[in-house]
Amino acid sequence: MMAYSVRILISLVNPPTMTTATAIPMVDLREQYQMLKTDIDAAVADVLDKTQFIMGPNVEHFETEVAAYLGVSDAIGCANGTDALHLALLGLGIGPGDEVITTPFTFIATAEAIAYVGATPVFVDIDPVTYNLDVGLVEHAITEKTRAVIPVHLFGLPCDMHSLQMLAKKHNFVVVEDCAQSFGAKVDGRKTGTIGNIGSHSFFPSKNLGCFGDGGMLTTNDPELAQRLRVLRSHGSTKQYHHTVIGYNSRLDEMQAAILRQKLPHVDRFNKARLRVAATYCENLQDLDIQLPVLNSPSANSDATPVFHQFTLLTDKRDELKQALTDAQIASAVYYPIPLHQQTAITELMPISKPCPQAEAIAQRCLSLPIYPEIPDESIDRVCTAVRSALQ
Ligand SMILES: *Cc1c(COP(=O)(O)O)cnc(C)c1O
Repeated sequence: MMAYSVRILISLVNPPTMTTATAIPMVDLREQYQMLKTDIDAAVADVLDKTQFIMGPNVEHFETEVAAYLGVSDAIGCANGTDALHLALLGLGIGPGDEVITTPFTFIATAEAIAYVGATPVFVDIDPVTYNLDVGLVEHAITEKTRAVIPVHLFGLPCDMHSLQMLAKKHNFVVVEDCAQSFGAKVDGRKTGTIGNIGSHSFFPSKNLGCFGDGGMLTTNDPELAQRLRVLRSHGSTKQYHHTVIGYNSRLDEMQAAILRQKLPHVDRFNKARLRVAATYCENLQDLDIQLPVLNSPSANSDATPVFHQFTLLTDKRDELKQALTDAQIASAVYYPIPLHQQTAITELMPISKPCPQAEAIAQRCLSLPIYPEIPDESIDRVCTAVRSALQ
């Protein structure tokens, strides 16, 4: 009783004000779950009821549904996006002695997969406008050992696949698209993951199509290759207890597949919402002395629809801006602070890598702002106001 009246007294002397604004996170997954809760809970309950936890009907249906959505003949579920890249290189027969060209400005998984198969990663610098592999530079890095190129559709913006595929034909290398950040993005009218020999996808919770744990997928238009990938992701077996090659335990979980099937029909809407957030940021920040991400096609010979996995700007005052946002209770993130050719794990493996000046400079200047389909308009306004006041 006593404590109660004291609290009332304090609140009268010191009335609650609006000065303590709620924190704005990089991503908030709760609202999307709340919106789909009835369907997702029912789908999970159904898996629990049926108890077919490994390679059940949801995995099979989800594979068919993704193949139809993206426009490929085959989609093969696997455990996560890193495994998808690893299995892709194995399925294409990449191994020791082979060189695989990729971008230094990506998540480590892209290069890990190359190391897993014993091949050598060769880093080619990025385009300063798109932050993606500079396809114009790829040709200079090709040697007689080059077997594959892994473009990453970073932050949801597709690479210039048109130029890359022309180069692939000319120099006879295979292409594995790392689509971990680009599910649903389009380039030249086709979805990412359907253009190269294999598309590799991640359903990590915060990705554009995310499950509630780990999940991944491989996509291809080559049914023979698809069959090899199916065998590799499940202990090298063509038939239960008949093992033709040494494979892996890398299956997509039935529970995750059930959740993903509930989300897939909404993914275009989610991606459109992300695009709208990005367009709003660009509109409100265009007069500042910063570099904003491109909203559509970055190159003359390709036409792209990005899906804004991240909204990443460049500024010389990156660290000051990050601090100002932190002070205003707004999250921001540096993707990525160290390019892969400068990461210890890589330099231990292959000490001599050519410098990548664009990637090195951008790693010092990049900052990603909060973006997710359900981010409230008031949050976007608050982020813009904070960025303006920090940089003006
Ligand atoms: C997330 C990500 C991966 C790895 O996916 P996981 O499902 O987390 O293993 C690979 N490449 C890129 C570019 C990513 O962003």
